[in-house]
Amino acid sequence: MQPRKKRKSLLKDERIAALNHIGAALLSEHNEQQLLHMIAQTAVDLIGARFAAFSLRPINEQGELLVPSEGNMFHLAEVIGVTDEQRELFSRMPLGGEGLLAPIFRYGVPVRVADVSSLIVQRATAESSLEFEQLKGSAQSSAFAYAHGKISSEDLQSLGVPPGHPGIRSFLGAPLLDHAKQVRGGLLLGHPDPNRFQAEDEALLVGLASHAAVALDNVRLYQAMHARVQELDAIFHSITDGVTLVDPHCRIVRENTQAQRLRHQLEASPQGTSSLDVLLYGPARQALLGQAQQDRLVSLVNENHEPLEYRVTSSTLYQQLSPGDPTSKKQSIMGAVIIWHDETETRRMLRERHVYAETEARRSLLQHILDELPTSVYLVHGYDARLVLSNHAAKTLWGASWSQGQSMESFLQENRIQIFRTDGRLLPQEQLATLQAVRQSKSIYQHQEIIRHADGSSLPVLVNAIALDARKTPLNLPAASHGERDPVALVVHQDVSALKEAEYLKDDFIGIAAHELRTPLAALQGFIELFQLQLTEQQNVILTAGQQESLQNVDQATRRLVDLTNDLLDVTRLQAGRLELRQEAMDLVSLVKRVVRRYQMIEGRHELVLLNQAPFLIVFMDVMRIEQVLTNLISNAIKYSPDGGQICISLEEVSTTKQALLSIQDQGIGIPVSQQGRIFSRFTRADNAQANGIYGTGLGLYLSREFIERHGGSIWFQSSENKGTTFFVALPLIAHAFDEEADDSNEAQIIS
Ligand code: ATP
Ligand code: MG
Repeated sequence: MQPRKKRKSLLKDERIAALNHIGAALLSEHNEQQLLHMIAQTAVDLIGARFAAFSLRPINEQGELLVPSEGNMFHLAEVIGVTDEQRELFSRMPLGGEGLLAPIFRYGVPVRVADVSSLIVQRATAESSLEFEQLKGSAQSSAFAYAHGKISSEDLQSLGVPPGHPGIRSFLGAPLLDHAKQVRGGLLLGHPDPNRFQAEDEALLVGLASHAAVALDNVRLYQAMHARVQELDAIFHSITDGVTLVDPHCRIVRENTQAQRLRHQLEASPQGTSSLDVLLYGPARQALLGQAQQDRLVSLVNENHEPLEYRVTSSTLYQQLSPGDPTSKKQSIMGAVIIWHDETETRRMLRERHVYAETEARRSLLQHILDELPTSVYLVHGYDARLVLSNHAAKTLWGASWSQGQSMESFLQENRIQIFRTDGRLLPQEQLATLQAVRQSKSIYQHQEIIRHADGSSLPVLVNAIALDARKTPLNLPAASHGERDPVALVVHQDVSALKEAEYLKDDFIGIAAHELRTPLAALQGFIELFQLQLTEQQNVILTAGQQESLQNVDQATRRLVDLTNDLLDVTRLQAGRLELRQEAMDLVSLVKRVVRRYQMIEGRHELVLLNQAPFLIVFMDVMRIEQVLTNLISNAIKYSPDGGQICISLEEVSTTKQALLSIQDQGIGIPVSQQGRIFSRFTRADNAQANGIYGTGLGLYLSREFIERHGGSIWFQSSENKGTTFFVALPLIAHAFDEEADDSNEAQIIS
């Protein structure tokens, strides 16, 4: 007996040592599944069981129990000593909360049974479910009685094992109790033979179960803590500020991603270590001395030499020297935290916002000023003159709203606005002052244009289109496709209606004056003619050469005055719309021939050449007015060619347009380019005409254009200073003679 006892006690010591050993091992295991296996396996090994099952009561992350302790809602966490099929079967099977397991699960007391078979209340004998319920109730009552020390385990009642369960005769089970002594699960052992488990086995299992409970709690806490650490780590690294922790020796202990990126950037920057010192080690050393720094602004440059600004905050990390004593103020410095907040972007955004606000304020002030201006002003950009901004007066001028970004062409088309020259002809697009300024980058001043609105009303304007240097225009305009800046032009329109109105008043006055002059002039002309007649008839009246010249001068001056008054009256009639044409179908060829011949009679210094390709050209015309035009054009050609020379008059039929085309070409002084645009205006004379002392009133061309246009024709010219001028007149034909053969066609007639 003795040696067996000794062996048994040694075994016991060994088992306690093993239990302690396993206790330490359990505490260091953080994987729950492995821990459960280790516990079950240990139970089997130490106690010599054949089977071990580990059931657990579900809990939440905080360790709170989720189901009642009846046991049938516990789950099988681990099982040892069964086949894979049995394991599979048990894991799907609810665990019973009555019979032998009830004291363990419900009341938290261990159960050791020498031979389960003697406790089985055969289910097969239960004939009805009611009877079975009664059996369960009785088993539960005996479990209650056992748990309260009223009966021994020999008096417990077992409901047997489920089908497929390995046969068990020896049974030992112990509860897993948490720190609040609540049942957390059960560790159940079995053996097919009876009497396998002794009291010390029970003590050992209870000990192992309590280790297991602590170890399981540890695992839960460890996992919760691990999850928390990961969360904190993710937060730490996602902070946009750089955060660095240093130890008391100013060595980096931890840094988040941003801090690491910044540190690497600084190391690569031109200032290298010195900038790291300013941004990191300096503030860290101060903090380690207990002198925390708040919001220190540091400026640096990065590797691309761009300015960077950081706000650095450093603080000291203290360690309580007596953690157990909350009243103790003893502490030591255990490190420092340095936070770098990148201000560069914030400042840049602030600056941009400020600049934007300022630009907007300026723009609105500019718009305000522009809107108050009585003159139309607008700014366009790009080859097709897209509107950037315009003022109120521009809207009034166009009689329509030009939307921002819309091209000039589309705006004009959309609103059926046309632009004419002062000579009444449609202004080709490329000659619009605005388009010239953007397309040719040249400034146009005092360009006369006539805006005709969709309702037919006309507005004479003077346009100044100033080409601006796009690079110096502080506007956010889109770049041109070729990468260069778009051309920009500032266009100012001056409405000259008021001036025109003044002109009409002047015309009125001139009309009255001219009318009043006609009677005395007629009398004067009559007396001169009478006097000249008397001189030729009365041979006895002899005038000296000087007297004769004076008389001729008076005659000439009177004729000029008559011409002038006639012209002035025509002007006023035209302005007042009182000029009537007496049109009839007439041959233009014979008219031109007659006028040319008349000039041939009086002209000696110029050679007049008539190139006529048509036998006759029938035009529906007021002969007197067309003759007036011819007279003015030929007299101009003669007048403005003071050095003489050839004057070539050509007449032809343009079959495509069904027009008669007349041209008068001279080799005279020409019209300076700068004055060509205004030459059809009233009283307009070129500087070179006046400089050459050539008389004239500047009415001839004005009247000519009016007369020609009223005939449905057009008049224009080409001129080059000191080389000569060609005037062209086109008149619509009412009949033409393609088939007529004339002897004198294609022949040059030289009349000199
Ligand atoms: P008038 O009213 O007597 O005709 P004018 O000849 O001066 O006077 P316009 O015939 O209207 O007036 O011509 C206007 C101006 O155009 C002229 O003063 C002159 O400067 C210029 N001009 C007209 N024809 C020619 C030409 N053939 N060569 C050069 N300059 C011309
Ligand atoms: Mg003239």
